[in-house]
Amino acid sequence: MKKALVIGLILIIAAGTVFAGPSGQTSGQPPIGVAIYKFDDTFMSYTRNAIETNAQGKAVISTVDSQNSQPTQNEQVDQFIARKMKSIAINPVDRTAAGTIIDKAKAANVPVVFFNREPFAEDMAKWDKVYYVGAKAEESGTMQGEIAVDYWKANASADKNRDGVIQYIMLKGEPGHQDAELRTEFSIKAVTGAGIRVELLAEDTAMWDRPRAVEKMDAFIARFGDRIEMVFCNNDDMALGVIESLRKAGYFSGGKYMPVLGVDATAPALQALSEGTLLGTVLNDAQNQGKATFDLAYALASGANPSSTSWKVTDSKYVWVPYQKVTKDNYKNFQ
Ligand code: BGC
Ligand code: CA
Repeated sequence: MKKALVIGLILIIAAGTVFAGPSGQTSGQPPIGVAIYKFDDTFMSYTRNAIETNAQGKAVISTVDSQNSQPTQNEQVDQFIARKMKSIAINPVDRTAAGTIIDKAKAANVPVVFFNREPFAEDMAKWDKVYYVGAKAEESGTMQGEIAVDYWKANASADKNRDGVIQYIMLKGEPGHQDAELRTEFSIKAVTGAGIRVELLAEDTAMWDRPRAVEKMDAFIARFGDRIEMVFCNNDDMALGVIESLRKAGYFSGGKYMPVLGVDATAPALQALSEGTLLGTVLNDAQNQGKATFDLAYALASGANPSSTSWKVTDSKYVWVPYQKVTKDNYKNFQ
């Protein structure tokens, strides 16, 4: 019984990947815990790699997969604290749970850097050793909408039923995620702000996920067919799912086209841009978000102030990494 428990504990500890420097020298390097909401998320795998690469030779990083479960992540935070991590970097499963994590971290005096999923301001205000690294969600929405506007204005045939209105589909990420809510809102605001009228045919969530997006789009095509004139997706994985579905329905060959928009600029999305299927995306800069997350966590773990890093810290808590528009004209710069 006891033995099983010990083995269990060892397994739990081993589950966190430990990265030492390339030389294998880890003495004097601070231990830092990193929890990712789920490893099986394309964009998060980019961010995670960037954190681990930047940590090499500087800190001993333990990265854990919260498997899309907040209770699991809460336990992982407890373990990080018990293992005396000098700081922790958390990509929350549920951003409304950040308050609980901050309370625990504060009680143990372990500084926290949240990333990608923004806690509410009132939670961020609970302690001065709490930071957030991310991107301004509304900015990505606006940029996506601007790409749509440019396309619409340059292509009269995009208005299939010639009513001067864009009949569109909106595929959302996880409801409640700031990127899902604000991209949905600001993409369309950019379109209407440019004086173009829109008609929402349908809006649904595919939870950031490609296979789910295929299913949803199959159903939308069955229901609306050629009435659909544009598809907005909160991220590239869903845009790629939409393109897959459209291909099955005969699009992207024989002159049949549909403008589809994503966000992230993942490698497969850039490939789709080069093939002329994806109309546009917005760079969600995983390299710099990962670097900033590590740099802040490392500064805090070393007892330094994050404003001593190369990052601009806004409101003593936030590092904002800018988005960039990506279309067929400039995608090569991002490959
Ligand atoms: C990305 C999505 C990702 C999500 C995870 C967003 O910023 O655009 O691709 O699934 O973060 O939280
Ligand atoms: Ca129309």
